[in-house]
Amino acid sequence: MEKIVDRLNQRFQGSHDVPAVLDYFLNHFGKTLGFASSMGAEDQVLTDFIAKINPQTKVFTLDTGRLPEETHELIDQTRGHYPEINLQSYFPRPDNVEKMVAEKGLNLFYDSVESRKLCCYYRKVEPLQRALSGLDGWITGLRREQSESRRQTRLVEFDEDNGILKINPLIYWTEEEVWKYIRQNQVPYNKLHDANYSSIGCAPCTRAVPKDGSVRDGRWWWENSQHKECGLHRNNREVALEEA
Ligand code: SF4
Repeated sequence: MEKIVDRLNQRFQGSHDVPAVLDYFLNHFGKTLGFASSMGAEDQVLTDFIAKINPQTKVFTLDTGRLPEETHELIDQTRGHYPEINLQSYFPRPDNVEKMVAEKGLNLFYDSVESRKLCCYYRKVEPLQRALSGLDGWITGLRREQSESRRQTRLVEFDEDNGILKINPLIYWTEEEVWKYIRQNQVPYNKLHDANYSSIGCAPCTRAVPKDGSVRDGRWWWENSQHKECGLHRNNREVALEEA
């Protein structure tokens, strides 16, 4: 698998040609490649490309039950804008959430990193695992520029947690390229971006960032910056550290 991943990365090394990358993988994988959209700016760009290249692709989002209203509005707006795409929502299992809230409270994430990761696990990671079941690969909107922990992310990776390939077509794009594409193609986007929310997750765990802040500063702002991932996108170094 490592050799295949290396070969694919060499093929698309430094590529900003996202349609070519998507075209290649969507054609090779067919129905066994899915796209997980967080409804963020990068993912809206990918939805637009996928609608043009292969709208039959499985496109899904994770509705944690704690999303801002603006994100719910965008989900409906995106469905209306791309009727050719079947945007599916995956929800947490009610029994998991009921047990967690009964034991630790509704806003447990402010208590400790462990409690925050537990909430992310039940509300995001477990639904993601269900959404990825039966797929050979998934597409994400990760970009290297977004955070320190994403600097080494490669365009193609083997996702150890889910045992499938992970394709990150926007890895080399800048924030400027993302917004240029959105504006030129009238892609719908979350209104919160206009209020300085650069990365948008759940309402209680996201806030606006100052102009000179980095993209993910508004996520879990009360925690040390090294914890700013929810478990959906652990890099290989994090996996190695946790397994050591
Ligand atoms: S981002 Fe916050 S509310 Fe959302 S799943 Fe994680 S801890 Fe829970």
